[in-house]
Amino acid sequence: MVYLVGAGPGDPGLMTRRSLELIASADAILYDRLIPPGALDGAPPGAELRYVGKEPGAAALSQEETNDLLVELGRAGKRVVRLKGGDPFVFGRGGEEAEALAAAGVAFEVVPGVTAGVAAPAYAGIPVTHRDAASAVAFVTGHEDPDKPESALDWDALARFPGTLVFYMGIKKLPLIAERLVAAGRDPGEAAAVIERGTHPGQRTFVGTLAGIAERVEAEEVRPPAIALVGPVAELRETIAWLERRPLHGEVVAVTRARAQASSLATRLRELGAEVAETPAIRIQPLSVEGALRAAVDRIEEYALICFTSPNGVRLLFEALAAAGSDARSLAPATVAAIGPGTAGALKEAGIVADVVPERFVAEALVEALEPVAVEGRRVLVARAAEARDVLPEALRGRGAEVDDVAVYETVAEPLGEACRAALERATYVTFTSSSTVRFLMESGARPPASARIVSIGPVTSATAEEHGLTVDVQAEQHDIDGLVDALTADAQSRRVPA
Ligand code: SAH
Repeated sequence: MVYLVGAGPGDPGLMTRRSLELIASADAILYDRLIPPGALDGAPPGAELRYVGKEPGAAALSQEETNDLLVELGRAGKRVVRLKGGDPFVFGRGGEEAEALAAAGVAFEVVPGVTAGVAAPAYAGIPVTHRDAASAVAFVTGHEDPDKPESALDWDALARFPGTLVFYMGIKKLPLIAERLVAAGRDPGEAAAVIERGTHPGQRTFVGTLAGIAERVEAEEVRPPAIALVGPVAELRETIAWLERRPLHGEVVAVTRARAQASSLATRLRELGAEVAETPAIRIQPLSVEGALRAAVDRIEEYALICFTSPNGVRLLFEALAAAGSDARSLAPATVAAIGPGTAGALKEAGIVADVVPERFVAEALVEALEPVAVEGRRVLVARAAEARDVLPEALRGRGAEVDDVAVYETVAEPLGEACRAALERATYVTFTSSSTVRFLMESGARPPASARIVSIGPVTSATAEEHGLTVDVQAEQHDIDGLVDALTADAQSRRVPA
């Protein structure tokens, strides 16, 4: 079975559910250049991934070779995903591939995608149709040479077309396109727009007149992929533009926490309009279940108090419980404490509502919040990171508790690859969510760029940052991810030059 699948215009969030399902179950994926970053991340480990796109100028594989390959793989009974940018049937040569498959008798399915000609204008605040401004829209290829007599484009008809003209692949030919349209009678003063890398971080939009847009595009050095659009709807950008108005638009925010934990922070930052640079400096390394953790699990029902200082601690303790054939019920006799809402959230997922969560999310505050809990002469479990501070277990021991201080994981350095280092270079904000993110980033030799603002989750992390020679520009008031995002956003807003 062959699937002709549209991957959308570039923003990974615009991939369809069906496309992700098919990618996740493919035997082979034949993909083009213009697919969203990370589009292949969900492919099964054994899948054959093959680039068949065409570089401008040179072809990796001719269209005939691609068609033949699709037929061959389809006949071999493979699940083949032919993944294309945008929609497969809009200037994607998907029609030709479908014809080849039909002719060969190979079964196929077509999965439409969000096409760039609609999506890039939408992200620029330009609706391609509008009740007052355009009651039709034409998708036009700008690829062919408008000077050739055999041009398939009817310039007179396009000039007369009563609606928005959207040109794909036309950025290099824009001067000729504009000239042809005007020569054929289209109003040179009509609004026009060009959108470069639509829906990607760093999308650029330029609005002008039909007569003037090509010059603007040249001056701004617009590069493909870009969409050119002609029509009064382009004027609506002034009112409708939304992307640029998001609070973190234009910011590149580096996230140094472990990749496995980065997603909630990254998602929130992206929703606020930031480009996120994932530059994980650390990785969570579970410690062996044997030894102290095993002993703790074996006597779990003896604890009067169980303290968790991170979501990882929760996750790993419950994994160890499960491995021992037990579950959340074995925590029933204990008072359960979480250092903050993230940890409490992880507990909730495991079926436990934390009894104690301090108002400030640092060990000292947890110690205080635990004062009413009777611990003298009783057994207490602290499940934590190997490198965590001793504040909590020491305070509990000081109150006469018998503390099992169990390291369930350690934080180790994650080597920063070339791409991560390059991304870090571009950061306007660098976020640190723990002392270990600071320490391991600085030990890796990578440095936040001098112009970047340094954001810390709280006083302990800030102190570590200062020790490493960094100046903390922003410190979260509430020491969790929400607090960090709020503080960063407020800082960005306060520095924004009013338009
Ligand atoms: N099948 C694709 C189009 C392929 S033709 C679709 O439906 O979107 C390639 C052209 O699409 C590019 O030359 C450019 O004009 C346009 N394009 C693709 N992605 C784009 C993007 N993110 N921003 C602007 N234009 C884009």
